[in-house]
Amino acid sequence: MTQTYLNYIGGRWVPAANGQTTADVNPANTGEVLAVFPSAGWEDAAQAIEAAAHAFPAWSRTPMPKRGEILHRAANLLEERANEAAEALTREEGKTFAESKGEVLRGASILRYYAGETMQPTGEIYPSASASTLLYAERVPVGVVALITPWNFPVAIPTWKLAPALAYGNTVVLKPAELTPLTAWHLVDVLEKAGLPPGVLNLVVGRGSLAGNELVENPQVKAISFTGSNEVGSKIAAQATARGAKVQLEMGGKNPTVVLADANLDQAVELTIAGAMLSTGQKCTATSRVIVQHDIADEFRDRLVARAEAIKVGDGMQPDTYMGPLVNAEAEQRVLEYVRLGQAEGARLLTGGVKLSGDQYERGYFVAPTVFDGVTPEMRIAQEEIFGPVVSLIEARDFDEAVRFANQTRFGLSASVVTRDLNLALRFVREIEAGIVHVNSQTAGAEPQVPFGGFKSSSSGSREQGKAARDFFTQIKTVYFDPL
Ligand code: NAD
Repeated sequence: MTQTYLNYIGGRWVPAANGQTTADVNPANTGEVLAVFPSAGWEDAAQAIEAAAHAFPAWSRTPMPKRGEILHRAANLLEERANEAAEALTREEGKTFAESKGEVLRGASILRYYAGETMQPTGEIYPSASASTLLYAERVPVGVVALITPWNFPVAIPTWKLAPALAYGNTVVLKPAELTPLTAWHLVDVLEKAGLPPGVLNLVVGRGSLAGNELVENPQVKAISFTGSNEVGSKIAAQATARGAKVQLEMGGKNPTVVLADANLDQAVELTIAGAMLSTGQKCTATSRVIVQHDIADEFRDRLVARAEAIKVGDGMQPDTYMGPLVNAEAEQRVLEYVRLGQAEGARLLTGGVKLSGDQYERGYFVAPTVFDGVTPEMRIAQEEIFGPVVSLIEARDFDEAVRFANQTRFGLSASVVTRDLNLALRFVREIEAGIVHVNSQTAGAEPQVPFGGFKSSSSGSREQGKAARDFFTQIKTVYFDPL
């Protein structure tokens, strides 16, 4: 029988106030309903905010290392159930089991990293103009924070927001994407079992326009950390700014890999395929444009197409699957619409661009790995985020033109260059407008100890992960302390 799950508010597992539920469906086999979750409305979000506000004074006074111990225990518990959580992730989101397991283990590393941060200094002492004054600046929590997250990294992204939020003494309401509630449930469950006091972390599964909107509008929420689309992000930013709440946005990308004439072509093809097709291209850091120097364009194109055609597409639970389905029918429609648009714009469809048919594909959202060439930088398929297994080849005369094309979008999340020329690699690092730059590796990838985020419209400018997360989840109190 399909299991029914609940929201977690004030330390209790409760149904949605309106009694509504939503089905968690497998995108590789839409006949399979994994679980039933509440479809929370604004009332549930308001209750969760109330619970978080109530829990804040005690949690913010809990010694930091004690908070760290809970995060550390949660990391161990998550690791212990890595297979179970990874299977849930694959079955509700579609990515391969290997990718899911990697993501769950990364979630555990992130929890451990922030457990370690709870032993780090929280401020600085300054020299004062007065001989008697102890002058220092201390990092203190912000209060109740709302975390609004997407479906494509349903373990990693909630974890890299909630671990620092909790470590620095905030209380949290997490609203995960409606498409991937089961992985969020695993995360909250391990934190509860690790000993988090009631109300410190609350889970509300529900629609963005209802539950999410309450989190953005409620004056008790002091900060909102959002990852998702530009469309929703800019709306949230306007609402949050209007009422003076702190807001952090990580949004879309149109990430380029630049392949220069001296590149090792096997390596360039492999990292382009990994960047473009793993997770079915549904990463904010996925490679969606390959800018290839003219001299090697023909050779690179032929090898890329052959490699794309060799990709094994299927259910992510099958061990030999390289690429799973798209997340839902809407995503599939959007990708196929962009394929039609690319052709109408005059780009050449070299392979893919179709919904896969046959027994194993019939009940899922499977689209073939897709490669276009003859793409020019201003085409919509080179400008807009497709969020699927589609890569566009753009030819450039030389290094300067390649960098100009690479920068010719409103996005600036990640970028990579493939070359053996150290001078050009260094120039690329300097000239590319991106928050994350890779030299001879794919555009995707994020280690927990370094800042993560984009330039231009990809981000609100703040950074997540590593020590950078502290800037968002704390505020600074400057103290002039004079003994009497
Ligand atoms: P989305 O914007 O549709 O949804 C993100 C979250 O916002 C969900 O939880 C959703 O319920 C909520 N939401 C929707 N409307 C809302 C509203 N009016 N008020 C409050 N909350 C609301 O994004 P998605 O489809 O889940 O994710 C895909 C997008 O996320 C892509 O654009 C991708 O590039 C981006 N993304 C960015 C990063 C990054 O770090 N830059 C990482 C992963 C994904």
